[in-house]
Amino acid sequence: MTAEMTETRTDTMLRTLPGDDVRQILWRFSDRFDLQMLIQSVRGVARGPVARLVAGGGRNTHEWTEEKAALLKAFDEAGITALSIDEEHGGFLSGPKNLALALAAFELAWVDGGAATSSLAGHLALAPIHEKGTADQVRTYMTRSVPPRPGEDRKISRGAFCLTEPIPFVGVDTGVLSGKVGVVDWRDGRDPLLHVEKRGRFITNMSFADFVTAAVESDDERIKGSCMVILEKGDPGTFDRGAPTKKLVHQLSSTTDPVFSLDVPASRIIGGYRVEDGVLIPTFNHGQIIESVFRRTRVTVGLMTAAKLLSAVEPVIRYQRGRFRGGASDQPGSPRHDLGLQQKEDVLHRLVDIWATGEASASFGFGVARFFDRFDPIDRRQEEIFAAVGIPAGRARLRAMAELQPKVLELIQLEATPADLRDPVRYAELAADEVIRILREDALANVLCPAVKLWNTGHGANMMREAVSLMGGYGITEDCPGFLGQKWMDAQLEATYEGPEAVQRRQLSVTMTNEVFLAQFKQWIKDLRLIASRQPATGACTLASSMELWVWTLRHLLGAGDADGRPLYRNQRQGVTFPMADALCWLLASRFQILDAEELREKGPSNPSLAEGLPGTVAFFSDLCHVEAARAAGEVARICSELVFGYRRHPSWERDGDALCFRVDEIESLESIMPGIDSGVFAQGDVFQNDGAHALKAGPCVRFKGMETYAGLRSRLDGCLSGARLAKDRAAHALTEVMIPEAADYPI
Ligand SMILES: Cc1cc2nc3c(=O)[nH]c(=O)nc-3n(C[C@H](O)[C@H](O)[C@H](O)COP(=O)(O)OP(=O)(O)OC[C@H]3O[C@@H](n4cnc5c(N)ncnc54)[C@H](O)[C@@H]3O)c2cc1C
Repeated sequence: MTAEMTETRTDTMLRTLPGDDVRQILWRFSDRFDLQMLIQSVRGVARGPVARLVAGGGRNTHEWTEEKAALLKAFDEAGITALSIDEEHGGFLSGPKNLALALAAFELAWVDGGAATSSLAGHLALAPIHEKGTADQVRTYMTRSVPPRPGEDRKISRGAFCLTEPIPFVGVDTGVLSGKVGVVDWRDGRDPLLHVEKRGRFITNMSFADFVTAAVESDDERIKGSCMVILEKGDPGTFDRGAPTKKLVHQLSSTTDPVFSLDVPASRIIGGYRVEDGVLIPTFNHGQIIESVFRRTRVTVGLMTAAKLLSAVEPVIRYQRGRFRGGASDQPGSPRHDLGLQQKEDVLHRLVDIWATGEASASFGFGVARFFDRFDPIDRRQEEIFAAVGIPAGRARLRAMAELQPKVLELIQLEATPADLRDPVRYAELAADEVIRILREDALANVLCPAVKLWNTGHGANMMREAVSLMGGYGITEDCPGFLGQKWMDAQLEATYEGPEAVQRRQLSVTMTNEVFLAQFKQWIKDLRLIASRQPATGACTLASSMELWVWTLRHLLGAGDADGRPLYRNQRQGVTFPMADALCWLLASRFQILDAEELREKGPSNPSLAEGLPGTVAFFSDLCHVEAARAAGEVARICSELVFGYRRHPSWERDGDALCFRVDEIESLESIMPGIDSGVFAQGDVFQNDGAHALKAGPCVRFKGMETYAGLRSRLDGCLSGARLAKDRAAHALTEVMIPEAADYPI
């Protein structure tokens, strides 16, 4: 960087690491005092007892120790245990709680993923009851799970969620249940008594759980299908907690392989049941309940990995700067003393990548958590709303929804039209229609949730390795500041539980082709172009061009076949669908990051405490966005080109006298083999010169529709990368100047 550039940028240089004021604006909770208090409270536990336990070697045992159990008490006192519980049942937060849970998990995972998981598993155990339980079940288990108030003589009830079973049963495939439920006693007019046989594998919280929400399937003709059922410690039979799992990760949570053989009343079937012709029919099968649970909880897991990446920034900067200090030849004030490893461009660039990924994944996760907070009230009333307008359940509902799709697309179109140009009456009518809103939000939810889980945890785990590598040998020791080595391994568990990456990719490969999502996606491209026209340095232009390339490729793949004529975009062809899902995640994460940075640019000036350092912070965040958008562009372009071209055969060349002859119908673009010659229609036998070395002769000629478009989109995208590396250089320079606190934010 030249002296002149440094000069002009000092007033807009990042001064300090972003604090809570900045985060509140970015993640949109400046007006939520309740959440700000929650963060302080959870942070006290994370950077206090949790950090001390990790530093003291608490992770070095698989057993559930007294010290680990003491954390549960700390969670209770900090309000973490009651976080997911509604006020009417003793909770303290009103309204939807996705953002609140996400913030709490983020704070805990900033220090230790196992501690975060321990608290989340309790909420996960309650989630099936919260989402689908009967009123009585909700009241009973929620009120028991709230910590006792002062003066109340009651033991808190803690739960575990049990889906996964010993091999060869439930794992990624949740349909192959071995857990069974049957009737043991059913007398007239009485609640039937059921017998449950269930074995679990890797079940969190099992060392201390008082109740378990378990997935089982009927092995009795008097019960239909599958369901989830609540098991209690005191039920007659066996409640065997099982041996601790020998985990390499998350050791502050308890995980075991339990065995249950219990008699329970049928009133424990989550969501209740009805009886038809002597057969007990659960209201919800286990798949329906699990879907409604994971649709929200997976977002929170994604934020745990985001926290790890952002928590790595300060320890890495501290390490880099201090690397050469204290030796005999050390001279305070020299670049070697002040900058240490930060004299080297590579370590700065890599840290910029880690930071940019952390910001993108946090923006993505919190953005989607807020989306679910907005969607929850109407989502929970779905059945009521559909019933009111006569939309039936089951397959007939799918048909009804398909018929309504044009209206959803019309609403998206109208929203994108300037107010003075659209039909106000029609717009108001569609905007007020709750069914249309559900269809639209549902289409988004079905993409956003798996995308957060997939990208934040999967790519996040890869980037944690980068963070570890920047700490040298220290990175892979227990003493590594920020516990980075442990966080790297922990991230892999976050990528695995609640459904590994394959599960998210599988879901995305179906949901991302929904026309409602694609219409919304198209609108997002336009929005980004607008941002790009105002703020080109954000990388919004790069991102918009990458999104266009992705949409073009998806539509191409949906209709195209491979060299043998086999269709490309099919469920079984995960080699096609999964990379496209990955590519989409890059785009979505980058979009959320840009939107947050723009929010900071817009709202930051209204916070007086930010005034002085704001221009530098905004400029830095903008540069991080640009870096991330360029990374996303690279990934998307690579994936799209591989898929568009990779399923065709390489052109074959034959010698024909002096000429090399190629078959045009085997290649998509002449430009790719003969730079300077446009693809187009060529007659058989046309001869071209190639560097004067060989003549090239066209074989039988076929012109491939659309390939010029792909090449055009791709080259537009490449051009849009202008400035991305300058942004990286600026961000890297900012890392050498930013002030960090005197001491680490928690013990090592
Ligand atoms: C510490 C820990 C805590 C856990 N806590 C809980 C808990 O509290 N409750 C609970 O119910 N479970 C829990 N689990 C289980 C966890 O959710 C499962 O391990 C996870 O869902 C994956 O199942 P699996 O291990 O059987 O993997 P498998 O099903 O064997 O899959 C292994 C791999 O094979 C590939 N694969 C499998 N199927 C497909 C497919 N259809 N398409 C493409 N690729 C595929 C993927 O790469 C996948 O990662 C926990 C696990 C651990 C390790």
